[in-house]
Amino acid sequence: MGAFIPKLDVASFYQHFDVPITREDCGALCSPHNPSGKPFCCDICRAVPVAYRQEWDYLSANTDQWHEWRGDECTEEPVNPKEMRAETPEHLLLLACKGPQACQRQYRASSCRQFPFFPYVTDNYRFIGLAYYWDFEPTCWIISHLDRVTDEYRREFVNTYDEIFNIWPDEFESYAAMSEEMRDFFKEQHRRFPVLHRNGRTVLVSPVSERLQYISVARLRRFGPYDSKEEQR
Ligand code: SF4
Ligand code: SF4
Repeated sequence: MGAFIPKLDVASFYQHFDVPITREDCGALCSPHNPSGKPFCCDICRAVPVAYRQEWDYLSANTDQWHEWRGDECTEEPVNPKEMRAETPEHLLLLACKGPQACQRQYRASSCRQFPFFPYVTDNYRFIGLAYYWDFEPTCWIISHLDRVTDEYRREFVNTYDEIFNIWPDEFESYAAMSEEMRDFFKEQHRRFPVLHRNGRTVLVSPVSERLQYISVARLRRFGPYDSKEEQR
């Protein structure tokens, strides 16, 4: 028997998860550091967007912005899509869009809306806030400027995933697994990682004990090209 896939009101989902992450146009701040000149998360050579299958039904009926990812969209580095498709959970589809010049904001997929974050689930199964996709530490401007994430975005994010997890236990499990992967990565690095807590504050999480320490978000570490004295935005 296939996994349970709930009905999703995608129009409402998008409407309630729409506010920009920061007041700045973060794409304009990261793209100068990408040789292609595109925001990293909108560059198919750097990240392949995903959407729930329910979203694909909605998007394919409403816009021509997307197609199913073929693997040849990154012309410098075409790949055989089979491997990545095999690694992608069944309820998700890999997609490619027409690129940032042709982005229709209202038809961004959920992965565009959540990036660079995912819901962080503790070892004892509590969704406590927003963690980031650690692979993008050296490239994503937001990860180096977590203090710019608005309270409104944090609220929308938390409400969105509270609702999704209420109707979709398997999706909660997926993020619990992703959170565990994050803990393993940071354990190896002997580093704690920040989580934008659902209570509005920011914590550093120990990947070993999961002890939480409240910290001032403005004092968090910066990475890559954003870790310089000249970069004082
Ligand atoms: S989310 Fe990160 S990678 Fe994407 S446009 Fe903003 S700063 Fe760039
Ligand atoms: S749909 Fe827009 S936000 Fe999403 S990857 Fe494409 S250009 Fe970026």
